[in-house]
Amino acid sequence: MPHRVTIRGRKWTVRHAHIANDGDCDPPSVPPGERVIRIRSGLRGERHLAVAIHEFLHADDWRRKHRSIDRLTRDLTAYLACLGYHRDEPPRSPPARDATQDLHG
Ligand SMILES: [Zn+2]
Repeated sequence: MPHRVTIRGRKWTVRHAHIANDGDCDPPSVPPGERVIRIRSGLRGERHLAVAIHEFLHADDWRRKHRSIDRLTRDLTAYLACLGYHRDEPPRSPPARDATQDLHG
């Protein structure tokens, strides 16, 4: 199921799809509002998180260098995994109060 997200004021669709790479991201030549980030179906855990962060950073600034993307992706992935991010967890509704407080602490 696709997700509609906003990345610095621009609307994107994030879609899990059967693609060859782990992820990809539409270039700025695609009209705003039609841009899609694709993440390979079946990715789990820290790899899924890292790919999502990587593609969000491309979406945020297409000119950003991979060297910068890879460093920030590694740091954010390590931190969020440390906090307990798991792609495998079922969606929580409503969110667990303790987990929410931890994230904002
Ligand atoms: Zn990339």
